[in-house]
Amino acid sequence: MAKRTVLDLDVKGKKVIVRVDFNVPIKNGVITDDNRITAALPTINHLVEKGARVVLMSHLGKVDHKDPEKTATDKAKNNMAPVAERLAQLVKAKVTFVPVTKGSELEEAVKAMHDGEIVLVQNTRYEKGESKNDPELAAYWASLGDLFVSDAFGSVHRAHASTVGIAERLPSALGFLVEKEVKMLSAAIDDPKRPLVAILGGAKVSDKIAVIENLLKIADKVIIGGGMAYTFFKAQGYEIGTSLCEDDRVELAKDILARGEGKLFLPKDNVVANAFDNATEVKIVDSTAIPVGFMGLDIGPKTVEYFTKLLQGAKTVIWNGPVGVFEKDEFAVGTEAVCKAIAELDDAMTVIGGGDSASAAKKLGYSDKFSHISTGGGASLEFMEGKELPGIAVIQDKE
Ligand code: AMP
Repeated sequence: MAKRTVLDLDVKGKKVIVRVDFNVPIKNGVITDDNRITAALPTINHLVEKGARVVLMSHLGKVDHKDPEKTATDKAKNNMAPVAERLAQLVKAKVTFVPVTKGSELEEAVKAMHDGEIVLVQNTRYEKGESKNDPELAAYWASLGDLFVSDAFGSVHRAHASTVGIAERLPSALGFLVEKEVKMLSAAIDDPKRPLVAILGGAKVSDKIAVIENLLKIADKVIIGGGMAYTFFKAQGYEIGTSLCEDDRVELAKDILARGEGKLFLPKDNVVANAFDNATEVKIVDSTAIPVGFMGLDIGPKTVEYFTKLLQGAKTVIWNGPVGVFEKDEFAVGTEAVCKAIAELDDAMTVIGGGDSASAAKKLGYSDKFSHISTGGGASLEFMEGKELPGIAVIQDKE
C-alpha cells in the first residue's frame, strides 16, 4: 500500500515536525558539502509555502553518552549551529535555531512561530534516548507538533525516537526526498523491468551477504567485483596472494557460488600489486593466476569488456560498491569503466545504492548520468536486502 506524502496533509497553521538528514560534513565549523541540506529543500519550501510552522529535527555525527568528557567534546563538535546558518541562506523563510533538544527555550520558540516560519532544533543525538527510541523522549518531541513528516532517507533504517517514535504518535507522511527514494528503489527491486542486472563490489562479503542473497533471488544477473571477489576465488580453490579475504566466509562463498550458478559472474582478470601503498610492481593477471605475494586491487581489461557485455540489454541496473580501490587513481580504472558502461546504457533504469559507489560516480563525474543515486548508504543496502525499513513502515498508508 502506498504511503501518505506531504501532499496528502493539510498543513496550514499546523506545527509540522520534519525529520531531515542534515548530517553534513563540517570542518572547523564550516560545512564542506551542503548536498543533504539542499536535498531537503523541496519538502521544506513546500511546507513553508503552504503556511506550515516547520520544526526541523536531525542528527549530526555521533555523541558518546558513556564518558562525560567525550559527551561534551562530541556535543561541541556536532553542534547544529553552522547548519542553521547555511539553511537560513538557502530558504526565504525566517529560521530560528534552538540550541537545545528539550525544555522551555525549545517550547517557547515553537509557541512563538508564525505560519511559514522554521525552527531548527539542536542535534537529536544530544539526547541519550534518541537512538534507543526512548518512549518518554518520543512523546515529548511529538508533543511539540501536530503532524510528522519523514524526509531523512539516510536514517529510515534506524528505529530512533526522531524517526519512528514521533511518527508513532502523530499523523504522518513521507517528504518528497523519501518518497522519491522509495519510488526509485522499489521500481528497481520490487518491480524491475527485465533483465535486471546487479553489480556488487566493495571490500567485504560479510557486509553484502544479505544483499547478494536477495539479489540472487530477484535479479537476472549478479556481477561481483571489488575486494569481495577474492573470497569467492579462494572458495573456487585459486591462489589469491595477499588479496583481501574473509576466511570465515569461504564456505558461505562456496554455497553462494553453487546457488548462483548461471547467474553469478566474477572477474576474469585483475590488476594486482605487490603492496597496497607504494607498490613497486603492478601487473594484470588472470583471476586463476594471482601470484603469491600480490594483491588484487582492481578488475582488469578483460573483465571490463566482460562486465560491459553482461550489462548490454539490461533494462534495470543496480550498482552497489566500487570494483576496485577507486580512491587511488591507478586502481580506479575498473570502477570508472563500470560507471561509464552503466551510464551509457540505452533506455535502462539505473540506480546507485549510495555509499562508496555514489562517491565514486561523483568523483568520476558521472553523477548526473544515473536514473537515481540514493542518499542513504545503510538504508539503501537494507532496502536491497529486502528488509522493511522501520522509518518508512511506521508512516501512515494512503486512504
Ligand atoms: P564498501 O563500503 O563495502 O562498499 O567498500 C568500499 C571500499 O572497498 C572502498 O574503500 C574500496 O577501496 C574498497 N575496495 C574495493 N576493491 C577492493 C580491493 N580489491 N581490495 C581492497 N579494497 C577494495
